[in-house]
Amino acid sequence: MFLYKKCEVCGEKINKLQKLRNIYTLKMGEVLQCKYCFTYYKTNKIVESFSSIYINTGIGIIFWFIAGICFAILLPTTINQNVKFIVALLFSFIFLSFINFIIACVIPLHKTQPPQKIHKQSFIYWVAMGILAIILIAFFVGFLGIKF
Ligand SMILES: [Zn+2]
Repeated sequence: MFLYKKCEVCGEKINKLQKLRNIYTLKMGEVLQCKYCFTYYKTNKIVESFSSIYINTGIGIIFWFIAGICFAILLPTTINQNVKFIVALLFSFIFLSFINFIIACVIPLHKTQPPQKIHKQSFIYWVAMGILAIILIAFFVGFLGIKF
């Protein structure tokens, strides 16, 4: 099935989503390892460079807002404007996570050398992304003139 990569060496099924964050990191070059024969798997360079562009330019955040605005339009007008804005962004987040999940299921994985050093996205990076998201939300809230 899509959630598993069949090990090319021993035929074992490797769960692609061993960690939940793999739905985002697998396409960024996160390495999977077969539990039985310890073969490493990784996506190819093309997928990796596309996702690095996607991540580094912040297009993901822009998509998040665009999808959020679309959801805001789709939501009934009877809902309070502020609540609607937050709910729409939440829907947008779930929607994009779902797309990322599908991408993680379909991207190709190939045998690779053991990683030089374990590629671990640092905690600081995620904190920075979180702060950036908050700043952008604050900016948009201000821009749309929403009052809390
Ligand atoms: Zn194996």
